[in-house]
Amino acid sequence: TDGTRTGLALHTRMLIGFAVGVVAGLAANMLVGEAAWLDVLVTYVADPIGQLFLRLLFMVVIPLVFSALVLGVVEIGDPRSLGRIGGKTLLWILVVTAMAVTIGLVLVNLLQPGQGLPPDIAQTLLSESSARATEIAGGREAVSGIDVLLNIVPRNPVAAATDGDLIAVMFFALMFGIAATVLQSEGTKTFVGTVQGIYDICLKIIGWVIELAPYAVAALLFSITAQLGLDVLVQLARFVGTVLLALAIHFFVVFPTLLWVFGGMSPMRFFRGAQPALLTAFSTSSSSATLPTTLKVSVEELGVPRRVARFVCTLGATANMNGTALFEGITVLFLAQFFGVELGLLQQGLILVMCILGSVGAAGVPGGSLPVIAMILVMFGIPPEGIGLILGVDRFLDMCRTVVNVGGDMAGSVVIGRSEEGAGAAPVAPRTDA
Ligand code: ASP
Repeated sequence: TDGTRTGLALHTRMLIGFAVGVVAGLAANMLVGEAAWLDVLVTYVADPIGQLFLRLLFMVVIPLVFSALVLGVVEIGDPRSLGRIGGKTLLWILVVTAMAVTIGLVLVNLLQPGQGLPPDIAQTLLSESSARATEIAGGREAVSGIDVLLNIVPRNPVAAATDGDLIAVMFFALMFGIAATVLQSEGTKTFVGTVQGIYDICLKIIGWVIELAPYAVAALLFSITAQLGLDVLVQLARFVGTVLLALAIHFFVVFPTLLWVFGGMSPMRFFRGAQPALLTAFSTSSSSATLPTTLKVSVEELGVPRRVARFVCTLGATANMNGTALFEGITVLFLAQFFGVELGLLQQGLILVMCILGSVGAAGVPGGSLPVIAMILVMFGIPPEGIGLILGVDRFLDMCRTVVNVGGDMAGSVVIGRSEEGAGAAPVAPRTDA
């Protein structure tokens, strides 16, 4: 709507940026290797461009999350229909996440990727990255299942926002929205108008930032592939293969089936429309950084009612992480196999529950699930240094699982949006301008 048309659609430009980044990065890695100028290029050009984009996106996340959720609640208006959408969202998160973890656990048990990894490779990988592993494992005191739930309620909402503790900010926003809806005074109307202003401004800023996406995608992928190449992937191929296979099943079988059956949407239409958000997820490895794009795409490309998209996608960006849950399950079992820790069916059931909670608790930032995995490993007597083994390949897997995380948010918003069509839409002032 704002006149900046450059001919090619945004998602086409992003695909081009993606291809350019990967091809150039791999070529640099293979042909040039360790050359000093490549370092300079990565450090002073590619990394800063990628970081700039990420910072611009993170800059709007807190005001966006707060305003989107307050408006989400107010727009839904009728507390009964909020309860209904909230209940459906919760149900979607629990059921679909459980499906994801189950796929992961079944595959690890079938494929046994942790057996037979050459011990010397393991030793090298461990010693190379053990410093970072201890840092990750030690940087966080063990949080038990109950505390994960208690932490949802912030002691101090401003501190929660400063720490980037999105779940706690969301809880605060939900309470604010509910109170504003219940009160309906002059003052609350003014407040809601102001929040609407904040929301609109955030979206405008995001519109500008997203124009940078094609360059940022190219830069981010260039620096990753130029630095890591394909080497690390080869060494941990079995683990990587298991994770990718499980993610693919969830992404290409479970999502399309759910969309088809409950959302009335063809997989082709979904993947085409969702593409800009999926590419952003892949290149940023962050559900939170992708949230603005997820929201935009759900409403504009997938036709999800705005009030539903705001609620489901915003909550989903931190709480609904199918890929992360699946990854946590595979990693814990993989390391158990690797270190020869026997886990029975009951313990695997407990791991399933921990992975669901862990995916709700993980932050939507790159590597957000690593502290959670460290915590689960300790719980089950598996050496947390094992995280060191997978760090080398984590960046790539992080990109892939974030795609599944974000895909799950959009699939959920489509399904829930569809289920709301007949239901609570009528009493709210009809908005067809989306
Ligand atoms: N990077 C993931 C996300 O933002 C979280 C994780 O699994 O590390 O969705």
